[in-house]
Amino acid sequence: MDKNIRNLITGGSGFLGSHLAKKLLDRGEEVICLDNFFTGTKKNIKELFKYQNFEFIRHDVTEPIKLEVDNIWHLACPASPIHYQYNPIKTTKTSFIGTYNMLGLAKRVGAKILLASTSEVYGDPKEHPQKESYTGSVNTTGIRSCYDEGKRVAETLCADYQRVHGVEVRIMRIFNTYGPNMRFDDGRVISNFIVQALKDQKITLYGDGTQTRSFCYVDDLINGMILLMNSNYNHPINIGNPNEFSIKELANLVRTLINPNLEFEYKKLPHDDPKQRQPSIQLAKELLNWEPEIELKDGLLKTIDWFKNNL
Ligand code: NAD
Ligand code: UDP
Repeated sequence: MDKNIRNLITGGSGFLGSHLAKKLLDRGEEVICLDNFFTGTKKNIKELFKYQNFEFIRHDVTEPIKLEVDNIWHLACPASPIHYQYNPIKTTKTSFIGTYNMLGLAKRVGAKILLASTSEVYGDPKEHPQKESYTGSVNTTGIRSCYDEGKRVAETLCADYQRVHGVEVRIMRIFNTYGPNMRFDDGRVISNFIVQALKDQKITLYGDGTQTRSFCYVDDLINGMILLMNSNYNHPINIGNPNEFSIKELANLVRTLINPNLEFEYKKLPHDDPKQRQPSIQLAKELLNWEPEIELKDGLLKTIDWFKNNL
């Protein structure tokens, strides 16, 4: 008889973690969600308690924990700039000590571990689109550094645990992802624009809105994440949607879909805000046979629906 796969998802009550948990439970696997509820919510995991194979542990990854699991999906870390900048020292601790603790656990029990890394390891990129071979342009002392450098050291720890201890690691560089289960006050651009538009408020554009991002719908991202964990590839790999939009184009699209009469309110561009971002997903296509399928407009419509029903 096949052994049931036991998954640990750190950050399991957050946006991505809650989607991943549901997908693994629907595949019949066991899931332990671990979270300290810094940005995650009980609402995101409420419906998961109906699955017999689901457990939740309230725990902070900066403290060690002993569990018997096969796969560790290490997502715990605030992802929105306003949340990771709220207590920047804690953010660095979460990435560094949290990843160290999870790698220690993986080593002890022989588990595979996937790190949710980020496009932010490329900083304000001088190479466009960003390939995995690009080593980045990151400020070590700016307001985004707690997150960017935290994730960079987390990747370094993964590479060294693999070289030194033979731990099986997966390093996923996630590009801007959106969808249901984002907090209304998450602060990231898509949830901000949708919430503002649904409340008939002005849409806040930081800077002149010419900076770009490439947005991936959550279902596509989670498919890529599972393919990566089940692959043998143990170097960093980009997962994201390569369709690039300026933030102003995004604002116009959200406005068209919700209320074309809304005004824009221009605000100061935050320090170190990357000017452009677009993943090269050549590796993911070749190695995982993965590419995103959901266009921005379709993903936005699903997300708007969810926000409408939950606001
Ligand atoms: P999120 O803020 O919704 O989820 C993060 C989760 O981690 C939350 O549930 C939070 O409570 C939990 N957490 C934070 N610190 C913790 C700690 N010390 N101990 C235990 N739990 C802790 O963010 P998300 O968008 O779901 O991101 C998940 C992961 O993916 C993060 O590691 C993030 O850096 C990475 N990522 C996400 C994106 C994206 O666009 N969503 C892009 C790049 C990278
Ligand atoms: N942004 C914006 N208005 C908002 C929130 C964000 O113009 O209300 C901009 C932000 O300055 C950045 C882009 O949108 O250029 C993406 O921001 P987000 O915080 O979503 O992600 P990140 O900067 O980490 O990619």
